[in-house]
Amino acid sequence: MGDLRDLYQEVILDHSKRPRNFGELAGANRRAEGYNPLCGDRETVYVRVEDDVLADVGFRGAGCAISTASASMMTETLKGKTRAEAEALFERFHDLITGREGEKGAGRPELGKLAVFSGVREFPVRVKCATLPWHTLKAALAGEETTVSTELTEGPKAESGGAS
Ligand code: ZN
Repeated sequence: MGDLRDLYQEVILDHSKRPRNFGELAGANRRAEGYNPLCGDRETVYVRVEDDVLADVGFRGAGCAISTASASMMTETLKGKTRAEAEALFERFHDLITGREGEKGAGRPELGKLAVFSGVREFPVRVKCATLPWHTLKAALAGEETTVSTELTEGPKAESGGAS
């Protein structure tokens, strides 16, 4: 497993250092902002939707290596997918990194490269970093012009933060 893990880390590192599809997306007709207060990750996801297809996806923001790599790989993966395919992939991805990958069944999409995030399940705090771009994308597709916070969508509420 050691080699595989190194490979995974390399892929994540590569995407975090050289994120793909980074920058405001020209011609985007959907966008949403995401914030993960536990880590401080902030990302804006842009989508150009054409006839129910995610014709183009991009993102901008600042965050940790995991959130940046996750956003980068998400944009690569989702280009050209339909909205339904994107949602199914998110579900599958979420199951993978939360360790609930029991159900396989027909119609489950292949994760492909996104499988490199499976190691994240060992670091529960990092799960939110990895899912932030996906939650943000979902909000963008839903046309919600609000900021998504991972604290509203996942897990127990953390009482951190406050004025300091
Ligand atoms: Zn993070």
